[in-house]
Amino acid sequence: MYKDYFPYFKNSNIVYLDNAATTQKPQVVIDEIVNYYSSYCSNTHRSNHGNANKATQNYEHTREVLKKFINAKEKHEIIFTKGVTESINFIVNSYAKNRFKKVIISSLEHHSNIVPWQIANIDFEVVKCNENLDFDYEDFENILKENPNALVSITHISNAFGKIHGIKRITNLAHKYGAKVLVDGAQSLTHKKTDVQDLDIDFLAISSHKTFGPTGVGAIYIKENLLNDILPYQTGGATINDVTYERSILLDSPFKFEAGTQNIAGVIGFGKAIEFIEELGYENIEKKEIEIYTYLYEELSKIDDIIFYSDIKNSIGSLSFNIKNIMAEDVGILVDKMSIALRCGHHCAQPIMKSLGIEGTIRVSIAFYNEKEDIDKLIIALKKAITMLKD
Ligand code: PMP
Repeated sequence: MYKDYFPYFKNSNIVYLDNAATTQKPQVVIDEIVNYYSSYCSNTHRSNHGNANKATQNYEHTREVLKKFINAKEKHEIIFTKGVTESINFIVNSYAKNRFKKVIISSLEHHSNIVPWQIANIDFEVVKCNENLDFDYEDFENILKENPNALVSITHISNAFGKIHGIKRITNLAHKYGAKVLVDGAQSLTHKKTDVQDLDIDFLAISSHKTFGPTGVGAIYIKENLLNDILPYQTGGATINDVTYERSILLDSPFKFEAGTQNIAGVIGFGKAIEFIEELGYENIEKKEIEIYTYLYEELSKIDDIIFYSDIKNSIGSLSFNIKNIMAEDVGILVDKMSIALRCGHHCAQPIMKSLGIEGTIRVSIAFYNEKEDIDKLIIALKKAITMLKD
C-alpha cells in the first residue's frame, strides 16, 4: 500500500480526499526537514563553515533535482518562491506589468491566476469552454489573432474540476502568434510528468505542498531567453554582487531573485519529495490514479440526483458535483463528522462557478495513495448525509 509511506495514515483514521488542497507528506520528506533543523541548521550562500556549506549544497541540490524533474535546460532557470501564488505574482510584477495590457486565461482559473493580474491593472481575455468544460482551441486562436504578442496564463489542470488543458497545443498556437505562456502547474506535477522543453513552456509555476512536499515552498521556471527581461520585484541580502551608496550590482539569476533568507528546510524537503516521486515513477502514479478516479466517477454516478459538470475524459485528480436541492456545504459538514475530508465551496474559482450558475460544488480530489476502500467509505457517508438532508 502506498499509504505506508505516509505517517498521516498511521496517525489518523480520516479518509483523505482533499488532495487538491494539499497532499500528505511521506516520511522521507519529514525526516529530511527534521534532519536539517536538528543536525545542520544554518543559513545558505553566506557563511563558510561546514554546516553552512552543507545547507547550501542541499538547497542547491533541490534546484538540480527540480531542473531534471521538469527537464529545464539550466539550473538558473529555476527560482524558488513560496508557491504558485507567489510565482504568478512574481511574473506579474517582474515581467508583465508594464509590458502587457491583456492576459489570456482559461475559464477554469484559480483566483491566484486572476487577482494578481487585476491588481496590476491588466485586463483579461477569457477563452471559452464547451458544456463539458473543455478548452475551446478555436476561440483561443481567434483571441490570439486579435491580441498578437500577448501573454497567456493558464492552469495545466483545473483544481475545481480536474480538467486537463492541452498545454502543447496551447503553447504551439500561442507561439505562432508571438505570445508567451505561463503555466500554473499547481495541480499537475502531482499527477503528470511536465517536461518544459517538450511542452515549450515559457514560465512554469510550481507548488511543493501539492506535490508531497512541505508548505510555503514552490518555484518559478523561466525559459533562459526571457531571464534578461525579468527585473527582481524584491531585492535585499544575498541578491547582490557589490553595493555602494551610489548603486548596487546584482548577482545573476537565480540569486538576484531570491532575496533574504529562504525557506531552506522547505526547499530541501521539496527536493526529497521530488526524489520520492521519481522513485515511484509517474507511470505507477498515473495508472493507480486513473483506476481510482474512474471508480470514483462510476460509484458517484449511482447516487440519485447527482449533478456532474463534465465527464471524466481529459481529467484527473479533482471531481466536482452537486446533489439536487442540497447545499454543498451542508454535505461537507455532515461527511466531516463521518471522518471524510473533502472540500465544499467555490474552490477559489468563483468566476467559473458563477458561469455555471452555482455557488460551489462538492469536490473529491484523489492522490495515488487513495484506495477503492476510501471511495466506498465516501459513498456510504455521502448517502447517509443525503438521506439526513432530504428528511
Ligand atoms: N493554482 C491552482 C490551480 C491551485 O489549485 C492552487 C492551490 N489551491 C494555486 C494556484 C495556489 O497554489 P499555492 O498554494 O502553491 O500558492
